[in-house]
Amino acid sequence: MTINDLRGVLKGRVLLAGDDGFEQAATAWNLTVRQPVAAVVEAADVDDVAALVRYARRAGMTVTTQPSGHGASGDVEGLILLRTGLLNEVEVRAQERVVRVGAGVKWGQVLAAAGPLGLTGLAGSAPGVSVTGYTLGGGVGWFSRKYGLASDSVRAIEIVDADGEPGRVTAESDPELFWALRGGGGDFAVVTALELELYPAPVLYGGRVIWPEHRTREVYDAFLEITAEAPRELSVWINRLQPPARRRW
Ligand SMILES: Cc1cc2nc3c(=O)[nH]c(=O)nc-3n(C[C@H](O)[C@H](O)[C@H](O)COP(=O)(O)OP(=O)(O)OC[C@H]3O[C@@H](n4cnc5c(N)ncnc54)[C@H](O)[C@@H]3O)c2cc1C
Repeated sequence: MTINDLRGVLKGRVLLAGDDGFEQAATAWNLTVRQPVAAVVEAADVDDVAALVRYARRAGMTVTTQPSGHGASGDVEGLILLRTGLLNEVEVRAQERVVRVGAGVKWGQVLAAAGPLGLTGLAGSAPGVSVTGYTLGGGVGWFSRKYGLASDSVRAIEIVDADGEPGRVTAESDPELFWALRGGGGDFAVVTALELELYPAPVLYGGRVIWPEHRTREVYDAFLEITAEAPRELSVWINRLQPPARRRW
């Protein structure tokens, strides 16, 4: 079987170089990074992911999973790029305070579904980041000082392993793989869905304050002072930004 034959096997799209839509499908969110992949596969469901991994294993090819390409490095020459955007189910189980999300779901979708039920997840600063990519890398968010990293709130992880076998990983079923996936990134399996704990949504006060460069020392000193004693409900992030030079007319 060649990569072209995958088209007859998968329900989702298979795009090869030269196909209409290939360039767009292979483009990362970060437009400064070029992705010279051999093919892009948009999996329609878990069976597609499993069939793709089994094909890649037989063909000696590597599959890399990328919902969006927020973290794209460009080190993907000749690989098969797996897009998970169609795995987009969001199921909030309010009584259990748990959400089950498909691997393509973004944080904004989870907050929109959980918010009306008075619940929230441990999202970070951007609604467009995928829950899976963020959580596999740990995930530092607004509530991390109170509830820990997003990866600390994972209950279960649905995967396709390197043999192309689907499975569900929990702390009890496979403690080592569960440990590795919660912060170790995407190299241990293709994740197809996550189950995460939700928390009661508090009343929030927040915002951003911007100071000019000459006050940097003062601002850093204040940041150190506040964060040394701050209650766990308070998260304060500091960024030093240098915008592109302003054009002078
Ligand atoms: C605007 C912006 C704001 C951000 N804010 C925060 C923040 O507040 N806190 C924070 O901790 N991080 C933050 N990040 C970093 C972000 O969490 C990482 O870049 C994360 O890896 C993005 O995940 P993604 O799936 O959207 O990106 P992608 O680049 O598509 O995926 C990143 C990596 O995740 C892995 N991966 C994704 N899906 C799967 C899967 N289904 N199976 C196996 N592996 C998979 C792969 O290794 C992939 O290369 C931010 C990033 C951006 C661009």
